[in-house]
Amino acid sequence: MSKGLDKHKHRSESLSYFGKDLVRRSGSHCELCNASGTKLSIFEVPPVPKEPDFEHCIFICDTCKEQIEKPKTLTLDHWRCLNTSAWSTVPAVQVMSVLMIDQLINSVKENEWLQDLKEQLYLTEEIQEWVTSAQSAK
Ligand SMILES: [Zn+2]
Repeated sequence: MSKGLDKHKHRSESLSYFGKDLVRRSGSHCELCNASGTKLSIFEVPPVPKEPDFEHCIFICDTCKEQIEKPKTLTLDHWRCLNTSAWSTVPAVQVMSVLMIDQLINSVKENEWLQDLKEQLYLTEEIQEWVTSAQSAK
């Protein structure tokens, strides 16, 4: 029991080392919806690696985080931001965006714009593989 807790603590400590670099990369804006002046926290894009990996981390606001973690709270309007974030040059941001596009297409109506966006997107093989492994890890 306490071992699990230690493990969790250890992980958040290791992740916190990435904070400074994430602040720099994101310019203190949510890497998904571009919100600024709000609390940003580290989110690990699935499949979560055994050891914390900077390349798997994105820096996002509470609104994005909550909607990712509780898919029932998804609001389509908030995710208009995918129109921009899906083109991110940061692999983890792009992968998370594509995952959200797929999730929204499956769960909300009036998602034509999302389907259009998905068709326009060009994903490298590497990104496509990451998306596939994240989806099959669920
Ligand atoms: Zn956000």
